[in-house]
Amino acid sequence: MKYVIFSDIHSNLEAYEAVLEEIAREKPDACYCCGDIVGYGADPAACINRTRQINPYIVAGNHDWGSVGLADIANFASNAKAAVLWTAGILGEEEKKYLKTLGLTRRNGFLVVHGSPNRPEEFNYIFGLNDAYPAFLKMQEDHCRICFIGHTHAPGILLEDMGHILFHPWPSVTLQSGKKYIINVGSVGQPRDGDPRASYCIYDTDSETVEIKRVGYDVKKAQDKMTKAGLPQFLAERLSLGK
Ligand code: ZN
Repeated sequence: MKYVIFSDIHSNLEAYEAVLEEIAREKPDACYCCGDIVGYGADPAACINRTRQINPYIVAGNHDWGSVGLADIANFASNAKAAVLWTAGILGEEEKKYLKTLGLTRRNGFLVVHGSPNRPEEFNYIFGLNDAYPAFLKMQEDHCRICFIGHTHAPGILLEDMGHILFHPWPSVTLQSGKKYIINVGSVGQPRDGDPRASYCIYDTDSETVEIKRVGYDVKKAQDKMTKAGLPQFLAERLSLGK
């Protein structure tokens, strides 16, 4: 089977369309989304509608739930909070209803969550090896070998081997038996690893390979829409930096 997994679209329709074109070319058996369709960008409704059309197996992100009052946004950074409030104000009832239906985990041999498999409702971040420790522990308990996440907007591959946790050089990895993997698929609509191109991931269960891929899109167009919408300028500017 061939799966496409993507995450953190963040209302960036231009980036999303570029990734969806790649997905159409990849012809996967199924698509998974690690959440955060909305927040930050200018096209929340359009991104929700595109998601409903492709109908991936999807989980909620903190911005999805934050926009419909299901997650606390008190700890959001000020720009993120401004964007969530703007999003909440512009979404229609239908779109809000859809965001409210999203759950926290998907399982299909592998696991899909937004932030961490350990207490996914807390949307904890996995940046480094220490953050990954409770996540791998939870995977051990759940007999789960591979988990796909987003949330940090920085793609990467973490692996656990006999109790040792380390970073695997990305963009690709061949899965080995006895090891566990946490794959951060990066962000479609707001990458923060210094590469402004949209990020997504292919998981091929026949070859047992995972590959993170990138695709360029019309950043300027997405930025202009954000400026016109009155969204914080910082959020528009960071798109060209990928930071
Ligand atoms: Zn996000």
